[in-house]
Amino acid sequence: MRRLLSRRRRILAKLPPLEEVLRGSVIVRSLRCGKPSCHCAEGEGHPATYLSVTLAGGRTEQISLPAGLVPVAERGVAYYRAWWAAIEQLSAINRDLIRRRRRQPTRPSRRPIRRSPRSRRP
Ligand SMILES: [Zn+2]
Repeated sequence: MRRLLSRRRRILAKLPPLEEVLRGSVIVRSLRCGKPSCHCAEGEGHPATYLSVTLAGGRTEQISLPAGLVPVAERGVAYYRAWWAAIEQLSAINRDLIRRRRRQPTRPSRRPIRRSPRSRRP
């Protein structure tokens, strides 16, 4: 029981900042610029980085990322994954705690049982 509680605390202490979470994935696509003289017309295209996110209803939104925002987006996506992983780990620990608490016999309360909440009021 104690071990589970301290594991839970450790997971919480390691969580990255929630305000920076970003759902989606950072992808690199190869683009052709359209100039017939450019190397991309024949060979490899120009790499372009996007944040790709699937929205409700199955629509996908892609936002192109300038170089300066690539690390920001990558960090946000990593944080998002870390939060979900933590939620899954915490949920597994809490399931274990529920199982253990179910097995424990319910102790009789030491406090006298109140007859009814109404009887306490004058
Ligand atoms: Zn080109």
